Amino acid sequence: MANTGKKVIQYFCEVCNNLIDLKNEDLYTYRNKFYHMDCLTSKLKRSKKPKYTGEKIKVILEQAKERGKVTRRNEKRHSTSKPVKLPSVNKEAEIKEKQDMQQLIDYVSSKYRITSQSEIQRVKRTFTMIKNGTYKRADGQKIPYENMYNMFCNYEQELNYIHSRLKNPIDTQIALLYYDIVVLINKYSEYIYNKNHATKNENDIKDFEVSTYLKGRNIEEDDSDDNLDIEAFLEGY
Ligand SMILES: [Zn+2]
Repeated sequence: MANTGKKVIQYFCEVCNNLIDLKNEDLYTYRNKFYHMDCLTSKLKRSKKPKYTGEKIKVILEQAKERGKVTRRNEKRHSTSKPVKLPSVNKEAEIKEKQDMQQLIDYVSSKYRITSQSEIQRVKRTFTMIKNGTYKRADGQKIPYENMYNMFCNYEQELNYIHSRLKNPIDTQIALLYYDIVVLINKYSEYIYNKNHATKNENDIKDFEVSTYLKGRNIEEDDSDDNLDIEAFLEGY
């Protein structure tokens, strides 16, 4: 045998730019580009010209899944060529970003007890979209992984407080996580403001924010949105 190692072809999703984890997910090939199922679905749903019906989207998804299988069968023929798409960020920034994402994922998977691989992949895609400003509920706002992680930490008490005051508790941990993500997105400008104007240490800021929040917010009025379900959040893609 020749001493060339088997080259692994990697596919990156056209929508979220993340690696498609073929151990856990199917590859969707559509118009010679590659997608996660969720990402392609949201792309098709968002499309205005043409506007696709649910039926049409289903058909396209089935075809894209079949094409994805063909793509993978053809891997052998192309295995000497370069990876399909390489992110064009420089190496150091790329490593730092990976670490930031890992830190964020470690934190939320532990806090929200998320263990399923497919859920973790879904959450990763959400954070990537938030970073890229393509998450609908972020309204074009871009939040780097590092800031997202810091917000989860800084606002931990406040999030716990909000949970304790929910009239209808959110029944799954993943839905609770998505609920909190939206809360944090809405706090981002406040977070940035405090970060830029911080003269005290972080603990003081944390205490300050929680106490302001406890005094200033009318919880009863804000409970109307309690029954948010996971699907509604995924619509945010
Ligand atoms: Zn994707």
